[in-house]
Amino acid sequence: MVASIISGKEFASRLRKKVTTQVSKLKSSLGSVPGLDVILVGNNPASEIYVKNKAKQTIEVGMQSTKHMLSKNVSEDELLKQINTVNIDDSVHGILVQLPLPDHINTQKIINSIEPTKDVDGFHISNVGLLATGQKAMIPCTPLGCLFMLKDYHQDLSGLNAVVVGRSNIVGKPMAQLLLNENCTVTVAHSKTQDLPKVCRQADIIVAAVGIPEFIRGDWIKPGATVIDVGINRISYQDSGTTKPKLVGDVNYDEAIAVAGAITPVPGGVGPMTIACLLANTTTAFCRINNVEEPSWN
Ligand code: NDP
Repeated sequence: MVASIISGKEFASRLRKKVTTQVSKLKSSLGSVPGLDVILVGNNPASEIYVKNKAKQTIEVGMQSTKHMLSKNVSEDELLKQINTVNIDDSVHGILVQLPLPDHINTQKIINSIEPTKDVDGFHISNVGLLATGQKAMIPCTPLGCLFMLKDYHQDLSGLNAVVVGRSNIVGKPMAQLLLNENCTVTVAHSKTQDLPKVCRQADIIVAAVGIPEFIRGDWIKPGATVIDVGINRISYQDSGTTKPKLVGDVNYDEAIAVAGAITPVPGGVGPMTIACLLANTTTAFCRINNVEEPSWN
């Protein structure tokens, strides 16, 4: 068996087109467009690249994009003031504070200061609670992208056994909650899980969000299972005597593709979906704030 490839790159491109259409319709009917404000503290090179990409794609779909670049020494109070300014700005519908924040800033306090309806990352405690109780929430972008791809491939996820490897607040836990809301039987595995290969072999769906390159091996996968690889790991390898960089996931792709029924590649899988879902979430936030019907992205 050779697995079908679930192309996040293609799915994200289709989702961005849907967002572009929605934004254009909203502009015609309401005379305004969704605005996404990104706050970056410090000059972490990886964060700067993410913020630049987000701004570029935000503009491409017709939305308003604003970047707030703050010094790495900014005080927690100054950052809270900046968040309050965008919280009360009617032209802003989505607020994203790029993580990680410097050590002197309390990240959870900052996230919880964002107006929940504008919390397009879905990390505010209100949105976490709404998702956990099956209510209308802002859903974190990476797990939302995984869910879109899973629903597109399977149509109905009800009754499937899902194993989520990783229990972070930004990926593993919301992913497990989303799958539970879709009536999957969900197991959340982590670093203390015993006999992880055996746990994974029970899964119809594996979502790997571990942060260890090529961690999930082919013989951990039930034949025909769907594998969603969230991991983004930069490794180096030898090619004709030179060391070259390479991006790999948390799943051993070459082994998994021979066993799985479907798999997301790295790069080109979950990664592109994350920013596309941020744009979708910002459009959803705009609709909720303006009391207009929100789009169904599926
Ligand atoms: P975290 O480091 O926050 O969480 C990793 C999780 O993996 C933890 O729950 C940890 O368990 C678990 N884990 C670690 N070692 C093992 C092990 N040996 N066996 C089983 N579980 C283990 O990572 P994130 O959730 O933030 O990210 C996970 C991956 O996803 C990373 O590669 C990251 O780069 C990528 N990522 C990709 C995104 C995208 O857009 N595609 C977005 C966000 C992340 P414990 O809780 O017990 O420590």
